[in-house]
Amino acid sequence: MHADVFGRPLRNLRLSVTDRCNLRCEYCMPEDEYNWLPREDVLHFEEISALVDVFLAEGVDRLRLTGGEPLLRRDLPELVRMLAAKAGLNDLALTTNGVLLAEHADALAASGLRRITVSLDTLRPARFKALTRVDELTRVHEGMAAAKRVFGRAFKIDTVVIRGVNDDELVDLIEYGRAMHAEVRFIEYMDVGGATKWSPNHVVSRAEILTRLAGRYGTVTPIVESTSAPADRFALPDGTTFGIISSTTAPFCSGCDRSRLTADGMWYLCLYAARGIDLRAPLRRGASPAEIASIIAAGWGARRDRGAEDRLALGDRRAFVPVTSLKKDPHLEMHTRGG
Ligand code: SF4
Repeated sequence: MHADVFGRPLRNLRLSVTDRCNLRCEYCMPEDEYNWLPREDVLHFEEISALVDVFLAEGVDRLRLTGGEPLLRRDLPELVRMLAAKAGLNDLALTTNGVLLAEHADALAASGLRRITVSLDTLRPARFKALTRVDELTRVHEGMAAAKRVFGRAFKIDTVVIRGVNDDELVDLIEYGRAMHAEVRFIEYMDVGGATKWSPNHVVSRAEILTRLAGRYGTVTPIVESTSAPADRFALPDGTTFGIISSTTAPFCSGCDRSRLTADGMWYLCLYAARGIDLRAPLRRGASPAEIASIIAAGWGARRDRGAEDRLALGDRRAFVPVTSLKKDPHLEMHTRGG
């Protein structure tokens, strides 16, 4: 097991399988036009599988498929089947916006997908359309129903909370999650690449979320557990659980064991990292697994990233990456990096 400069293990890998998305959420993809990764650069399934083999040998044991929207990647269940069969893999999950999930849920589960997270920021049709710029809430609900049916309790709902946009729906979303048998996780609005309209005034902190839910439900009890998962979990008096990912006001970089591989094979050691490590070039050049392993080991061994903590330490905080820089390098976008 490799440890970085701060002793954090290489363990969780988020695999983005496409930078494309079928929504245009205001906090992630607010622009009218995007520069996409060149198609010829996007890794084939065999290439992803070969890199995953090296990552597994180097200590990774948990994979999450992301995008963009991963269900836009053709034949995704085939990739799931290839990954699920690998020895040493302890977890295989996927994050989706749910629009295409009803069509694919059965095939994904049959291929070996074990857990699913569906992103949903609002239950209100007009608000969904305004926030995502697409009128697809009905299909997301169909996807949610499929997730409940196929994945049972291995199903979570992620909600980015933005003041003045959806922060009046915390209770509604808890109730929706309860009906879907899914744990809801509230995510503080982050100033990552792509969030060009971010401002601290739009952040609803973990403390405020807890205060609001306690006001409605009564005592909220923290669930004490030792994991590297980003969400702190809590229980309501009736036993309903939920999570909060407080990356903005209370970052958890000190235990972060996550890295991200983009669809074109760039490896990022932090959500905020300005540069990635190119694994596609050596792979396509014919480098051996041992050579790629040494690149991974050296990269992780030198890792000092604590992006969210560095951001918190800044006094005057605004959007992290200007639009001009995003246009020049799509790797800085969260829809490329897999959130
Ligand atoms: S900001 Fe970077 S180091 Fe901190 S938790 Fe996120 S990915 Fe990990």
